[in-house]
Amino acid sequence: MFIVDAHCDTLIDVLAGKRRLADESKGGHIDIPRLKRGGVGAQVFAAWIERSYLPGSAARRACQYIDAFYSEIEANPHDLVFVKTAADLARAEAEGKIGAILAIEGGEALDGAVEMIRIFYRLGVRLMTITWSDRNELGDGAYDPTGGGLTKAGVKVVQEMNRMGMVVDVSHAADATFWSILEHTHGPLVASHSNSRALFNHPRNLTDKQVEAIAARGGVVCATLVAPFLGPAYNSVSGLVDHIDHLVKVAGIEHVGTGSDFDGVGPDGLVAGMADTSDMGMIVAEMRRRGRPEHGIEAIMGRNLARVFAQILG
Ligand SMILES: [Zn+2]
Repeated sequence: MFIVDAHCDTLIDVLAGKRRLADESKGGHIDIPRLKRGGVGAQVFAAWIERSYLPGSAARRACQYIDAFYSEIEANPHDLVFVKTAADLARAEAEGKIGAILAIEGGEALDGAVEMIRIFYRLGVRLMTITWSDRNELGDGAYDPTGGGLTKAGVKVVQEMNRMGMVVDVSHAADATFWSILEHTHGPLVASHSNSRALFNHPRNLTDKQVEAIAARGGVVCATLVAPFLGPAYNSVSGLVDHIDHLVKVAGIEHVGTGSDFDGVGPDGLVAGMADTSDMGMIVAEMRRRGRPEHGIEAIMGRNLARVFAQILG
């Protein structure tokens, strides 16, 4: 099975010098030995900018994260493939390596300069979450809604992302920002780590209408392992699969994936019952137990995201 995980924050520990991906760590959720045990074929690594670098130093901080990512790619040529194109992703799978996709979580990283999106693309960034939780130069985040959609700069940035072949990630966007992104982009969108608001009413989750809209555009909604977004009644592997089942019911089997948020949550932030990426098979096992056909499980665990990444990255 080719598992693709749409979101992790492992670069935080890498940049802090707390983790090298080659070595199995007792802390956190992701390193190469555990990715292998979990059967993960491709992992999105996000650069997330701490608030202390705002405003004004976010682009430099993003570059430091990107440098940390490069150092891991260079140190692990036998295990990692830096995925910048569809061919890179196919090569990672063919060679049995882990495809590593570089991402930015939060358009704060541009420091308000639209041209930075082109610079980050040239450095290999292939996905950007337009906002993090706060309002930024591009639009409102989910925890900071003012009712406005994308700003003028935000519109320019998502249009540039479309033109260059970067994945536009709507997770963390406020509702108005979400619909504004829909309006100003074309082709598939990805929600890298969001659950169903119909099951648990949380601003970081997506309404059925939003899920339908992503599906209509050929995109993928990635259920996340974050306990506060699953909700107290769904804080288990079974509850996570409840969210997945609902997303499939609304979006269709071709438009659901997973985005763990490993290393982006504290000890109590992760779904109960799962310890780290080596437990990804637990989601597969629960879907099998419920009788979902194997090709459907493969679609949810990775094929859908691989299809959309290949389509957008070209
Ligand atoms: Zn996040």
